[in-house]
Amino acid sequence: DAGMKATAKIAVFDTTLRDGEQAAGTRLGSRDKIRLARQLARLKVDIIEAGFPASSPDDFDAVRKIAQEIKGPTICALSRAVAADIESCGKALAKAARPRIHTGIGVSDIHIMGKFRDERYGKTLEGKKAKLVALAVDAVKRARNCVGDVQFYAEDAGRAAPLYLFEMLEAVIDAGATVVNIPDTTGYTVPEQYGELIRGIRDNVPNIARATISVHCHDDLGLAVANSLAGIRNGARQVEGTINGIGERAGNAALEEIVMGIRTRADYYGLSTGVEPREFFRTSRMVADMLGMPVPANKAVVGLNAFAHSSGIHVDGFLKDRQTYEIMRPADVGFTGSRVVLTARTGRAGLRSRLEKLGYELSKQELDTMYQRFLAVADKKQEVLDEDLVALVHDELPPVEQNLKLEYLHSYSGTTAIPTATVRLLVNGKTKEGASIGDGPVDAVYKAIAKLTATHAKLLRYDIRAVTEGTEAMGEVTVHLEIGNRRVMGRGASTDIIEASAKAYVDGLNRLV
Ligand code: MN
Repeated sequence: DAGMKATAKIAVFDTTLRDGEQAAGTRLGSRDKIRLARQLARLKVDIIEAGFPASSPDDFDAVRKIAQEIKGPTICALSRAVAADIESCGKALAKAARPRIHTGIGVSDIHIMGKFRDERYGKTLEGKKAKLVALAVDAVKRARNCVGDVQFYAEDAGRAAPLYLFEMLEAVIDAGATVVNIPDTTGYTVPEQYGELIRGIRDNVPNIARATISVHCHDDLGLAVANSLAGIRNGARQVEGTINGIGERAGNAALEEIVMGIRTRADYYGLSTGVEPREFFRTSRMVADMLGMPVPANKAVVGLNAFAHSSGIHVDGFLKDRQTYEIMRPADVGFTGSRVVLTARTGRAGLRSRLEKLGYELSKQELDTMYQRFLAVADKKQEVLDEDLVALVHDELPPVEQNLKLEYLHSYSGTTAIPTATVRLLVNGKTKEGASIGDGPVDAVYKAIAKLTATHAKLLRYDIRAVTEGTEAMGEVTVHLEIGNRRVMGRGASTDIIEASAKAYVDGLNRLV
């Protein structure tokens, strides 16, 4: 392709905190968001989409803090093509060194007729289409009054009539859009077609050279990464996605797969990114831990088995020459192979430096709390691994104030016993105690806690996993609770799984308050 330089760079746009979090069934607190944004900066993504400030005061606050604290990447905020949304983005991004506003509007007939049904948008489809171009142009101009960098999304571009899409893009680029995002919002397209759409934009939008084309794909048909790469192959120079591919429904395109695709097949694409791939493993685990969405073992690039060779023939070939069956090295994406082990002899400074390497920067007081807990665990299980530390941080430093606290727990079960639990809770400073029987020890504990707190929360999901290998491993429990339309995740960790279960439930109830 004569139009493209062999060394062209693809800008990597991470939307884990916006499109990803939106769908996770749980909201992250602003502290977790900043922690993740800091890790994304270490990963050296080019743009972090930090949130949708007009959607809630919490989201506004998180975007504002990220804009203030995270240096390096461009910080982007989402808005609809609505004046109030754009003002809100402008305010949230005021302290960012490199702010970007991402505004846009629906462009497919289905979206136009569905979301702009009201007659004030026009009586016919053609009337509405003209009105939407005017609204989009207004929005982009308004955003350009706040910041110099404005990205426009043409929602549901994957199902739009191409000629209308071209017309819309030309208008918004004239209005000052610096990036045009072509989302396959519903995950409907297939690679050849999506690639042609991007090529069509390059060939038919007269002022396209003044803007960067961005691809944003969803995985409803399992094609998000393939579609993204097809878009890049056809001239897109920015790619959007999330870590671990989390996101609405089947998810967004997984950034680690796209970046490693471009890198591993540089011979084919002749492109590069500025991402530091050795941070992928750590980022992946941080996202999984924060959202309680574990990474499947067979997940490309970051799954635990992604680099495991088990068939006899493969192992034999592999031992003779790694390249026979390995296209990427585990170390390239941050699998370290050897694991760092801390013990009861590890000092406070050693613990702090390990936590910082894992992406957790704690205050002095938090470090004191963590150190005491670390010593208690090191005492019980001798060796403390990174995974243990992460579980302990979540358990010991919850993101919300703990109005409920588990003080005491005794449970009783066995092959012939009726499972029984006695629980003592501190409820807003007052001690409450009660007992219950249940189907099993966890059920008995949960019934006792529910009785003491008179909660109506519905338990949607209960998951338990061993943090590391072996029977002495810590157990980490994750619960999803719901009251009305509010959903939260609670988590707890302990070498005693009944205690971990109780803590997770109590943590969830604290987050519902
Ligand atoms: Mn999306």
